[in-house]
Amino acid sequence: MKTTISPPPPPPPTSPSQNYAGPGDVECDFCTGEKFRAVKFCLTCPASYCQTHLQPHYEGDALKHHKLVDPDRNLKEKLCEKHQKSLEIFCKTDDSCICMMCVVTEHNGHKMVELETEREENQMSGV
Ligand SMILES: [Zn+2]
Ligand SMILES: [Zn+2]
Ligand SMILES: [Zn+2]
Ligand SMILES: [Zn+2]
Repeated sequence: MKTTISPPPPPPPTSPSQNYAGPGDVECDFCTGEKFRAVKFCLTCPASYCQTHLQPHYEGDALKHHKLVDPDRNLKEKLCEKHQKSLEIFCKTDDSCICMMCVVTEHNGHKMVELETEREENQMSGV
């Protein structure tokens, strides 16, 4: 048996922190029935994930490029604080999500991608 490639580290042990979503918590978008509390929000999907449903994002080649942030920044419903517009663009220079108004006013020359197309952007990153 050839085992030249070491196995990936085991996932973190399932702890009591795998809680059901409570008031004020962000729920996992993929749990059916009882919803677990989301531990991450994926900007690329975009969706919220509990620990269990987040696993493919750490294991799959296609998903590991996705941009994961804390779930309390629920960007699907969040508006730009300055312009009250939906956050459609991810500024790689600032590592934050911005609206179209921010793009033209404050992020001149920054490296930006549309949230849903970051995967394609990564494939042709020859900069
Ligand atoms: Zn879930
Ligand atoms: Zn994702
Ligand atoms: Zn804005
Ligand atoms: Zn920027």
